[in-house]
Amino acid sequence: MQCHYCDRDADVAVEKDGVKVGVCTDHFREQMAELEDADWIEELDEQLDIDRRE
Ligand SMILES: [Zn+2]
Repeated sequence: MQCHYCDRDADVAVEKDGVKVGVCTDHFREQMAELEDADWIEELDEQLDIDRRE
């Protein structure tokens, strides 16, 4: 799968509003920063066991 935002290979597949989208880690973090209040991020976070950095 290819990243939805750039030409790199997607590292993560996220489902948002019923649509599956592939994103690279850079864009995933970017989206996470923008949508940090969204419920789906929390679910995804648990799945990926992401190393959070301040
Ligand atoms: Zn990307």
